[in-house]
Amino acid sequence: MKRLLIKNAKIVTQNRVTEGSLLALDGRIAALDVHIEAEVDSEVDAKGLFLSPGFIDIHNHGRAGFDVMDAKPESLENIAREQIKHGVTGFLATTDTAEKEKLWYAVNTAAKFCDNDKSADKPRKGAQCLGVHVEGNYISMKKRGSHPPELLRPISQEGLSTLLGAGNGNIRVMSFAPELPGSLEAIRRLRRSGVAVAAAHTDATFDEAMDGINAGVTLATHIFNSMRAMTHRDPSVVAACLLDDRVTCEVIADGTHLDPVILQLVYRLKGPDRVALISDSVRFSGLPDGRYDRDDGRAVMVKGGVIRLGDGRLAGSSLSMNGAVRNIMRLADIPLCHAVRMASLVPARIIGMEATKGGLDVGKDADMILFDSDINVSAVFIGGERII
Ligand SMILES: [Zn+2]
Repeated sequence: MKRLLIKNAKIVTQNRVTEGSLLALDGRIAALDVHIEAEVDSEVDAKGLFLSPGFIDIHNHGRAGFDVMDAKPESLENIAREQIKHGVTGFLATTDTAEKEKLWYAVNTAAKFCDNDKSADKPRKGAQCLGVHVEGNYISMKKRGSHPPELLRPISQEGLSTLLGAGNGNIRVMSFAPELPGSLEAIRRLRRSGVAVAAAHTDATFDEAMDGINAGVTLATHIFNSMRAMTHRDPSVVAACLLDDRVTCEVIADGTHLDPVILQLVYRLKGPDRVALISDSVRFSGLPDGRYDRDDGRAVMVKGGVIRLGDGRLAGSSLSMNGAVRNIMRLADIPLCHAVRMASLVPARIIGMEATKGGLDVGKDADMILFDSDINVSAVFIGGERII
């Protein structure tokens, strides 16, 4: 039996921070207490740092020059290694709008990578790939954001079957516009297959969005961004997602995608159990400022961590998960335990993994991180093994 003791930590649980120690046995959390005396194989003195559950990023396209759409295990490996530096212990490899075949390969490669990740016996170097998030393809032309217009296509049952086959049980989230023809049938089918459905890149009215929610939509993909705007006589998909408790809202808390006031508004309306922090980071995140070419031939400018197409449209983010936690605390005056909950338990719940991940609870996987008051991550454990 492998025993790990972390002592002198400020332990971040769902509602409070307490000083104490944590004992993990064979990869699972076994005890939390003020003092724990135990014979262990390894002991870590946290020296007063915060100990929290590892972050789970359910919306991540890439980092540091690598992208899920590369459809290469090496790219996924590199993304996992970049993610873990920012306190991410689990992530969904997130695909983009692409030609059918290219999308199939990207989903299938990511799915195989996840399956191998689960069964790997070699030493782990990066965050765990917990599944695949398929974003785009079936989205509104009006709210496509940076997705290439010529590649958008109608929802088809055949297309869904192909994707679900490529995912081999690993697709955890699908993001598309709920107002498109065939979407309600698709939502019901995906829910039956255990896939969470997100309203994304959508021009849905309030009523159209409610039809989607009643059919099974439980997530709003980067709320407000690439969504029909909410106005006083057109509450739109935004108000539907903000008001309905069945829906969790993803937010990109980089200070650019959403005004800090909007972050506060979302938090006040949804509370800490219905907001999921995401990175939505792309290949160009973490690269020096400059001009880069995307796979679709269009150029982006990276400046001060903000990524834009030539026409000024935002094209993903450079955000990291520890950055998101830090930002939302500062920009929207949110307490640490709530910010951590939005980066761990809430995303774990969205992908149906809250029984084993997303919290420092006895019995859950010992996926944990240590960080300081600026959320600089100094240690990461997955299944009780120290990776960083
Ligand atoms: Zn995205």
